Amino acid sequence: MSRYTGSVCKQCRTEREKLFLKGDKCNANCTFERKRGKNAPGQHGARKSKMSDYGKHLREKQKAKRVFGLSEQQFKRYFLVADGMPGMTGDSLMKLLELRLDNTVFKLGFSFSRKMARQLVMHGLVMVNGKKIDVPRYQVKTGDVITVKEKYKTNANLVKLMENPVAVPSWLEFDKATITGKVKNEPSLEEFSHPINSQLIVELYSK
Ligand code: SF4
Repeated sequence: MSRYTGSVCKQCRTEREKLFLKGDKCNANCTFERKRGKNAPGQHGARKSKMSDYGKHLREKQKAKRVFGLSEQQFKRYFLVADGMPGMTGDSLMKLLELRLDNTVFKLGFSFSRKMARQLVMHGLVMVNGKKIDVPRYQVKTGDVITVKEKYKTNANLVKLMENPVAVPSWLEFDKATITGKVKNEPSLEEFSHPINSQLIVELYSK
């Protein structure tokens, strides 16, 4: 399984859209917002060719994959699971992605970005219901209580993050005093991390 290790800003330029892959840093100094950054990478990046129907579907899938930092195989697996779930496949897909533990940790404001959240989880610094969970793809569910290990609570990055906690989405609640979050319910369609047309992804895989 290969994970993209190149410049994340390049991914935004490819999608011609801010994907906020560096979390908070994206608000201050964004490559995409600079003049040349508006072009896609590569010598033909400035070309404005009309996108084909297939291209539109593909770009939407790539965007979702990039926002959540997943490989092609991982993303396809999510689609297959969502396809077997009751209800709209696109909605189920987005819900599965949103409820990943690394995404939840990021949404609770324990990290600057999803990438950092993934590292925290993989380093065993995140606890769910009092138990260490070191699997970023772990699916959180309603009622789960998420916190960080005691030793991480004094970490300079976390202390800085806790100075100005982020506003958590309504499906989560957060207690600053104990640095603990709780999953109140499943996220609604309006609260997904990034505006993604999941129907286009479903149509792409169904072709
Ligand atoms: Fe994308 Fe801008 Fe963030 Fe770079 S700084 S990852 S271009 S949103």
